[in-house]
Amino acid sequence: MNTAVRQTPVRLAIIGGGAAGMFAAAVAAERNIPCVVIERKARLGSKVLMTANGRCNFTKDISADQFLADVGPAAAFVAQAVRECPPRKIISGFKSLGVRLRRMEDGRMFPADGKAATIVHAFGDLLRESGVPIISNCPVVGIEPQKPGFVVATRNFTLCAENVLLATGGVSYPKLGSVGDGQRFAAGLGHSLVPYRPGLIGLETDDPRVTRRAGQRFEDASARVVAGDGKTLYEYRGEVDCETFGLSGAAIYNCQRFIEHYLRGRPDLKAAGLSVEAVFGRECVRVDGPKPRPLKEAIVTIGGVALDEVNPATMESRIVPGLYFAGEVLDIDGPTGGYNLTLAFATARRAVASIAGSI
Ligand SMILES: Cc1cc2nc3c(=O)[nH]c(=O)nc-3n(C[C@H](O)[C@H](O)[C@H](O)COP(=O)(O)OP(=O)(O)OC[C@H]3O[C@@H](n4cnc5c(N)ncnc54)[C@H](O)[C@@H]3O)c2cc1C
Repeated sequence: MNTAVRQTPVRLAIIGGGAAGMFAAAVAAERNIPCVVIERKARLGSKVLMTANGRCNFTKDISADQFLADVGPAAAFVAQAVRECPPRKIISGFKSLGVRLRRMEDGRMFPADGKAATIVHAFGDLLRESGVPIISNCPVVGIEPQKPGFVVATRNFTLCAENVLLATGGVSYPKLGSVGDGQRFAAGLGHSLVPYRPGLIGLETDDPRVTRRAGQRFEDASARVVAGDGKTLYEYRGEVDCETFGLSGAAIYNCQRFIEHYLRGRPDLKAAGLSVEAVFGRECVRVDGPKPRPLKEAIVTIGGVALDEVNPATMESRIVPGLYFAGEVLDIDGPTGGYNLTLAFATARRAVASIAGSI
């Protein structure tokens, strides 16, 4: 008897079951696209569970225009994706799944019970009810293009797919599963990678006005980035926290991210010429030549798959047809306040919508 069985390729293999992968699977289920989610960790959404100290600030209740104005360098690339999947659509989507929500005064949105698990469970329930196959505890180790489609390899089996969506995340918090595999697969298939930098991370200082207050949080605070000539380049009103290593909190994170992008556009400059001035309580602390904490501790990865090799109208590779990207695997990042999850959701939706054929 001939036992050789020809495998029917699945229409879409989603690699990574984090924010982008879960959202992509939900959209695929809604559009009746047969798909499978393959996740490295034992459960879906490990990083989502950690967001906003376990509370999950999943978006910000603002218009798509305001979102894009705030988001910075990636705005042009993500514009179509965000306009089609704006924050308010994400909010109504969670409401329709029965998730009770809480809106902060500044528009940041959380599940009302303050539990990120509520968001992850909402995805889990939806995918279970839709019968989406989920293979967890299963790192994908290789992706090989065929003619047509792809062979997706794990340590235990291979799977044929017509399309592959890389939703494997950035490289920060690697214990939560995002270790740069998607970027490696993309590079192996001919994509360029923009070097990684930490985004939204604390700044080191041994200023005793900071270190002796380690553990204190100042909500009514601000921070600004100052150029060598004293000019303010960026300013943000928001929380400043004192830590044993230095400063953190939303105002510091956004200043640090501003500096990374500012220096990237000016390779001749060094952080040494810049300072961050934090105002909290009665203190005004200036950190010259600010040094960020390591990438592995960052909220977001700056860098990743280069955007000029990905079609923003489809999220499809311009190099390998049928290969799609969503979320932090791409060189996209936003400020604090729900922007990064929104970017993951919106790019995932765009990719799946284009696979569904409704570009
Ligand atoms: C501490 C912390 C707090 C944050 N708070 C917020 C917040 O409040 N609001 C906000 O908007 N953003 C926040 N972020 C950022 C946000 O969590 C990320 O930007 C977002 O999760 C990115 O989504 P993603 O799907 O691209 O990646 P991830 O959510 O990281 O998902 C990638 C998934 O791919 C899996 N994977 C990786 N490699 C493989 C492989 N080879 N095979 C199979 N699976 C693989 C990983 O295990 C992971 O589950 C926070 C981040 C951190 C670290």
